[in-house]
Amino acid sequence: MSKGDDLRRMLDEARSIVAFTGAGISTESGIPDFRSPGGIWTRYKPIEFGDFLASAEMRRESWRRKFATHETLQKATPNAGHRALARLVELGKMPAVITQNIDGLHQASGVPDSKVIELHGNTTYAACIDCRRRYELDWVREAFAVDEQLPVCTACGGHIKTATISFGQSMPEAEMERAQEAALAADLFIVLGSSLVVYPAAGFPIMAKRNGAQLVIVNREPTDQDDMADLVINAEIGATMSRAVGVN
Ligand SMILES: [Zn+2]
Repeated sequence: MSKGDDLRRMLDEARSIVAFTGAGISTESGIPDFRSPGGIWTRYKPIEFGDFLASAEMRRESWRRKFATHETLQKATPNAGHRALARLVELGKMPAVITQNIDGLHQASGVPDSKVIELHGNTTYAACIDCRRRYELDWVREAFAVDEQLPVCTACGGHIKTATISFGQSMPEAEMERAQEAALAADLFIVLGSSLVVYPAAGFPIMAKRNGAQLVIVNREPTDQDDMADLVINAEIGATMSRAVGVN
């Protein structure tokens, strides 16, 4: 039996599979892993949330960076890995996809919004920091194109930022709770493309495993939690998952 056969059997036998996805699933869609060596965040110091709030120049810099990478993100489409998860959701076997990604590709692959738990927010739209009102990026970009005008909430006057969780910003409480519930209800927890180094997010696989779920890790590189896993596959996610689920 190959590891691929093991994975197929585990997916077949499980009743409640929860996926936990990281940058590795999206690099296969051409989205660079900003945290990887040589990635943009190792060249530019990340803008901390406190600095964003305190400084108009920092807010301008964050929008400059956003629009510099905007087109790559807009062009990206879901890959076979995303589609395999969408199929499991469609089959009623996967009640939740917990993701560290901010690219919206799970939703683009057909997973309903209500089943995607975004731990680090979403960069495909913006929101007011104070009242959470949603704003589209095209609207921000139009204003910013004129003398780098900073967007301000039309409802409350608050600062507008991409709907992501920045460094120094607290984790979203509702999403953390939903992720915990999903992890504890899973009988199979599958990590896809996360190196499992960013906490508290990386605590969910441990939580699921300790609660009796089987743990599968599919990642190109070894992770710190491999020892705890029932199955580890160091390979491409799209190819591995599409074969196991039977989609392309
Ligand atoms: Zn507002």
